[in-house]
Amino acid sequence: MDTILIANRGEIAVRIIRTCRKMGIKSVAVFSEADRHAPFVAVADLAVFIGESAPSASYLDGDKIIETAQKVGADAIHPGYGFLSENADFAKKCAAAGLIFIGPNAEAIAAMGSKSKAKALMAAHNVPIVPGYQGEDQSEERLAAEATEIGFPILLKATAGGGGKGMRIVENEAQFQKALQAAQREAQSAFGNAEMIVEKYIASGRHIEFQIFGDKHGNAVHLLERECTIQRRYQKVIEESPSPVMSAELRERMGKAAVDAAKALNYDNAGTVEFIYDDKSGEFYFLEVNTRLQVEHPVTEEVTGLDLVQMQIESAQGLPLSIKQAEVIGKGYALEVRLYAEDAANDFLPVTGVIERFEVPAVEGLRVETAVENQSKITMFYDPMIAKLIVWDKNRAGAHRKMKYVLRHLVCLGMTTNKDFLLLLLNHPDLLSGNYNTHFIKEKIDLATLQRPPAPHLAKACIAATLWDWQQRNERRGVLAAMPSGWRNSWYDYQQETFLYEAEICRVKYRFETENQFLFWVNDVSFQVRLTAVESGKIQVEIDEMVYLFNMVNNGQHFFIHQEHFGNITLVQKERFPAKVVEKVKGGFDAPMPAQIIKILVETGQKVKAGDGLIVLSSMKMENTICTEEDGVVEEIFVMEGASVEAGFLLLKVG
Ligand code: ADP
Ligand code: ADP
Ligand code: MG
Repeated sequence: MDTILIANRGEIAVRIIRTCRKMGIKSVAVFSEADRHAPFVAVADLAVFIGESAPSASYLDGDKIIETAQKVGADAIHPGYGFLSENADFAKKCAAAGLIFIGPNAEAIAAMGSKSKAKALMAAHNVPIVPGYQGEDQSEERLAAEATEIGFPILLKATAGGGGKGMRIVENEAQFQKALQAAQREAQSAFGNAEMIVEKYIASGRHIEFQIFGDKHGNAVHLLERECTIQRRYQKVIEESPSPVMSAELRERMGKAAVDAAKALNYDNAGTVEFIYDDKSGEFYFLEVNTRLQVEHPVTEEVTGLDLVQMQIESAQGLPLSIKQAEVIGKGYALEVRLYAEDAANDFLPVTGVIERFEVPAVEGLRVETAVENQSKITMFYDPMIAKLIVWDKNRAGAHRKMKYVLRHLVCLGMTTNKDFLLLLLNHPDLLSGNYNTHFIKEKIDLATLQRPPAPHLAKACIAATLWDWQQRNERRGVLAAMPSGWRNSWYDYQQETFLYEAEICRVKYRFETENQFLFWVNDVSFQVRLTAVESGKIQVEIDEMVYLFNMVNNGQHFFIHQEHFGNITLVQKERFPAKVVEKVKGGFDAPMPAQIIKILVETGQKVKAGDGLIVLSSMKMENTICTEEDGVVEEIFVMEGASVEAGFLLLKVG
């Protein structure tokens, strides 16, 4: 295999390209309109435009992708996850076109494409399945009768489902009809198929999955488990390995069931067998097999030291597995969190926008899988995942501590993300103790606490924004160097700024004292402040003797602020002066507001004509040019360039 085309985008494309490079394989990226400037396009050895932004016109257009693969002389296609990765027809078409599909055989994909067929097959191979009904009779009467037989609560699932769609918990018989219709409607629109299976609802369940791997020679192993119980909307947020509830004995039994599942499918590539583990009874049941590389595969790589993408490429080429079950040894502990562009406080709705700044801290044992950089757009077209952060440590407590550190120091500014939500999760004592089930987020996490930073944090953010703005003005003006050390004139009066934090008004008053010192009042609480350093995108401020480093992005009226101790805060600056105004006054010319003298345009004794500029002032963001309305002679000038004056200060006189 010399050339692999990657039929995917984003972080997973970057991940696959990395292994291609390591193996000396040429990587070919395909991209849509929206991704033309995406980093994965830049890092591939070759990139080919394949169509419009909508997935159906690009990443889901199998024929176009195969045609492109042939055009560039690719030997194989890696589908990543999502998109065409679990599309058996696509896998077959690849084979027909003489291309290797890097994934399991098409029959295995097809067999697992239907939850009902998958369960039947697993049951036939003695893999424990969730008690339930997965028959062909889809009449409401039959489904209702089966639900009653199983015993409420039950779970309705779309046979063709995935990604948590088309699922409904039904608590009792009375709710059944309505829930069924809703689930069917959702399934029909998402998958074009309204068929349902009915399952016993495991009230206190944990999602524990096993990574499996097979080759074309009948070998199959599992690569230990991943615990993915922390979910919202039936979708994973945090993944870890090993599971806190795993014992050697349980691993032995579940691992065997996973390998049995693989063998039942003649499984010949990377896959994941998902189980639901009943906390109460200690029983586990088969849920489904995901016939692809999983989003959370790095967790397994970190504890086993294996490169799953390399193993996929080798298996697809027909090479035998290079590892035996007994050689699979988990070392230490790995934890992954998914950073999403979503609003946790608003029912986890995905959000779009621009990531103005993205900076990960340098922490040993941190692995970052992402495809964003400064200015990356999160568009409406694709998944809102921004990055996966994976940490490894010798033990669980160490990894959790590290992850919290990483999240606190991660700079991801410009749009709403679930970063603070992830920290809220990790800070919960039950998460660290491993005492949770799939309802953890709903039952134990108070999303209201995400709403508002405490007042002292808000005040510090306002100070940072004010100083950042002040500093930017100084730089633009070019009068002062990076630091205001040479500026000796003191302000006669307070400067004022107003910021909005959501609907809340924060009033800032400040006065420049000496050197780098300021006196601040935020909503009438006073602070002693020093501006101690400024570098690109960062400002260091000493507030009442404590030193804080702020990461700053200023975009128009918006200040996106990150500080490791209190996370992200977005402030909106209220403009005090609506637009650049030209002052026209007669005789004596006063400063209309506290200001700094930027430039004096005239000399004493100079003749001036109506409309001529006399002096340029600067205040807050605005520059004002004072002009004369009438012809005359400059009689006296009372200020010098660089000086600061209060409002009403007499600047000069024209007679
Ligand atoms: P599951 O939660 O069933 O294990 P995964 O977490 O492995 O599934 O992720 C699969 C999901 O990833 C898909 O359901 C889809 O929402 C999302 N996805 C699909 N394609 C992409 C992509 N190219 N980039 C990011 N996310 C994707
Ligand atoms: P999908 O194909 O959408 O990933 P799954 O069957 O894997 O569907 O289920 C998704 C999630 O729903 C699981 O991770 C688990 O949290 C929950 N779940 C699934 N089946 C059950 C069940 N029988 N009882 C309780 N929770 C379940
Ligand atoms: Mg699943």
